[in-house]
Amino acid sequence: MLRNDQLDAWDRENFFHPSTHLAQHARGESPNRIVTGGSGVFIEDRDGTKLLDAFAGLYCVNVGYGRTEIAEAIAEQAKELAYYHAYVGHGTEAAITLAKMVLDRAPDHMSKVYFGLGGSDANETNIKLIWYYNNILGRPEKKKIISRWRGYHGSGLMTGSLTGLELFHKKFDLPLDTVLHTVAPDYFRREDLSMSEADFVAYCAAELEALIEREGADTIAAFIGEPALGTGGIVPPPAGYWEAIQKVLKKYDILLIADEVVSGFGRLGSMFGSDHYQMEPDFITIAKGLTSAYAPLSGSIVSKKVWKVLEDGTDEFGPIGHGWTYSAHPIGAAAGVANLELIDKLNLIENAGTTGAYFKEALKAELGSHANVGDIRGEGLLCAIEFVEDKDSRTFFDPARKTGPQVAGALLKEGVIGRAMPQGDILGFAPPLCITRSEIDKVVTATGKAVRSVL
Ligand code: PLP
Repeated sequence: MLRNDQLDAWDRENFFHPSTHLAQHARGESPNRIVTGGSGVFIEDRDGTKLLDAFAGLYCVNVGYGRTEIAEAIAEQAKELAYYHAYVGHGTEAAITLAKMVLDRAPDHMSKVYFGLGGSDANETNIKLIWYYNNILGRPEKKKIISRWRGYHGSGLMTGSLTGLELFHKKFDLPLDTVLHTVAPDYFRREDLSMSEADFVAYCAAELEALIEREGADTIAAFIGEPALGTGGIVPPPAGYWEAIQKVLKKYDILLIADEVVSGFGRLGSMFGSDHYQMEPDFITIAKGLTSAYAPLSGSIVSKKVWKVLEDGTDEFGPIGHGWTYSAHPIGAAAGVANLELIDKLNLIENAGTTGAYFKEALKAELGSHANVGDIRGEGLLCAIEFVEDKDSRTFFDPARKTGPQVAGALLKEGVIGRAMPQGDILGFAPPLCITRSEIDKVVTATGKAVRSVL
């Protein structure tokens, strides 16, 4: 076996890590971790350190680590048929079965699922299909996509543009000019503190409508949003938000993409965030929870309304020119089937709802009265704490102080992984959906200690 210092040197010499300070990493100034194993909610590294992963990797290992049922399904599929493509009507039992399982779980008005590899490419597929849809309908001008500041939809050219976080635009010549951003549905961070929650929802809807009017509704194709903001700070929407937004979209004939890469398959305590918030999307993006990240697989679920136009389009213009070599990869599909079966068998969606509620209350009991804890929020097993310098005036810390990353660092020393969210001093949690109350108690106690050691 290679020595750790050898691996560390090779890593810094050869490995281009995503979302990493490249210079610091190359100089050996930033920590690295070589992860070797995992079981349930715990991971272990080469130094023998065991950590409770309260972020499920990148909110994706929903069934927990070390599930042999999924590993065996992957191995069986690899032995039987590791690969065949899905072009021109080809398929595998795993991919066909998974498509049926996804549609059985999706809202009734959805029609088909296209399988990709990750959340970014699934959103690219959605946008391409939306452009195709409007061209088929003879509306070539209706192409712009509205996203929200603080939304996260991937880091490709189009999806990085949709993502409303400066870090993903800076020096990349993004966002592309077909993408527009509107207000983030973050009531805690509202500019006008005198606004009630209902006022704030009306303001978000009015800002959206003003943007549509300014640009011209005949130029706007779709609106994309995560049911609850994820990477932009873990923010459940204010009450009535989706109802108000959907009213505006309907008025101007604008499609809705529900990006359920994080919320799909149970994280909020419902099968989909669309069920949770009564959304009626035209597209649903799925990835992470589809396979619990045991193998890469994503999907674009298309509504009946859109599907009809796509079908008619191919009658007129020939086969749809869209596909990846690895679309509906049999190994990902086999992982997906085993994963969705396990979610049902272990009742994980119900656990996300009940244990998630317990988690939020326990965090409030532990830290609700702390002078620098401005907000504790969450839905299901998606939770966050936002830190402030002064609670009464809701003054935020100077970002240069890096309060969020410091708390996440202190939490790690307590043996728990939380995530310093990339914008604002926000500590996020998204543990595997199988987490128990006693494991939650450990997370809460460790978080209390970490916060008090920094603040
Ligand atoms: N959409 C959402 C809501 C996400 O949270 C993410 C990733 O975190 C993506 C899309 C992009 O997915 P991927 O990183 O698999 O490309």
